[in-house]
Amino acid sequence: MKKYGYSRSYIEQIVYDSKITHRPCTSCGENTNISQWKRNQGICTKCLNKQQKQDNDDK
Ligand SMILES: [Zn+2]
Repeated sequence: MKKYGYSRSYIEQIVYDSKITHRPCTSCGENTNISQWKRNQGICTKCLNKQQKQDNDDK
């Protein structure tokens, strides 16, 4: 049975992290502001931009 839409480690990190202000990006490891990190599902804005570029290139 599927409980979560996100990966389990992602959920665990969010729950664990309520007082932490920065998290390492899951893609490049760079410290990322926690609100950005959550919004981008665990990656920094640099990696997000890279992904979006790749998405556009695929089209
Ligand atoms: Zn990154």
